[in-house]
Amino acid sequence: MNKRAYNFNAGPAALPLEVLERAQAEFVDFRESGMSIMEMSHRGAIYESVHKEAQERLLALLGNPDGYKVLFLQGGASTQFAMIPMNFLGQGQQANYVMTGSWADKAYKEAKLIGETHIAASSEADNYMSLPKLTDISLSDNPAYLHITSNETIGGTQFKQFPDTGSVPLICDMSSDILSRPFDMKQFAMVYAGAQKNLGPSGVTVVIAKEDMITSSPKHLPTMLRYSTHTSNDSLYNTPPSFGVYMINEVLKWIEERGGLEGIRDLNREKAALLYDMIDGSEGFYRGCVDAGNRSDMNVTFRLESEELEKAFIKASEQEGFVGLKGHRSVGGLRASIYNAVPLESCKALVDFMGHFKRTHG
Ligand SMILES: *Cc1c(COP(=O)(O)O)cnc(C)c1O
Repeated sequence: MNKRAYNFNAGPAALPLEVLERAQAEFVDFRESGMSIMEMSHRGAIYESVHKEAQERLLALLGNPDGYKVLFLQGGASTQFAMIPMNFLGQGQQANYVMTGSWADKAYKEAKLIGETHIAASSEADNYMSLPKLTDISLSDNPAYLHITSNETIGGTQFKQFPDTGSVPLICDMSSDILSRPFDMKQFAMVYAGAQKNLGPSGVTVVIAKEDMITSSPKHLPTMLRYSTHTSNDSLYNTPPSFGVYMINEVLKWIEERGGLEGIRDLNREKAALLYDMIDGSEGFYRGCVDAGNRSDMNVTFRLESEELEKAFIKASEQEGFVGLKGHRSVGGLRASIYNAVPLESCKALVDFMGHFKRTHG
């Protein structure tokens, strides 16, 4: 096989090599059916067992919290930005948002199209390079829910703890750090994630929600945009993204094999520490973008002294087989996305490269 790239793409992103190889081995003839999983009915026994396995594995990794259900939807996390207020924001209520960066802002703007909103906290004044303190979150008078973004993929911030909202439903966009560490599902009414960062290929959106939140949705909504449609049909109302669900199931097995969420967290911490130690120990050659306490273990954002030097860094890195280190076009700089599937070896190779680049350009 050709050498695999050192893949630091932000999304779609690296998938575990073991999963890709397993998928390849059973691609043409899935479970002795004489066809691939993409070619069979989603109402048949084989696909249904994969669908159910993926749901059960996901809940098991979260400790099988009582009363929660898993949905596999389409339209990306971006469609959830709209479905959440459409389904949960009632008359006389306010949709509450914690503003932490580009993704939170996109979610908030969709809610504004639907009804009344309230900004419960914001770090915009700091250019989103830090996170608001949990104690600074202030809800509106009649909140329908509080929405947070656990990891801001572009800025590179990540909440280490989550707010306690009591009886107000807490909803979280976990697109870029779901299953990267243990978390208490029972703190949340709903979490959701586009699969293409930590769970599998693009085309599937995972929703984990309290069943009572998603069983009775407003009847005036189009059928596909009602959570209740998908809940009562077990995400099989229409044709599901079957290959993506299969891949998620394989990624979940891979997480189990690595010691579940604790094992994955330890590995992720080790990877992130390698990079942040290199940045912090570089005497200002590399400059971390985010406050130390709010740094993401998934998206490591940093800068060099000038944009020219950053361009030279990207060019040299590409020549050495590194992919995806350019920061998001909206903020510039550099970013290494080190999701679950990015191997420790890739991070070690990047640290070596950064050391070498500093010696030759410092
Ligand atoms: C990538 C990303 C999204 C957008 O996901 P799509 O599936 O492309 O709609 C939303 N939120 C966060 C935090 C992301 O990282």
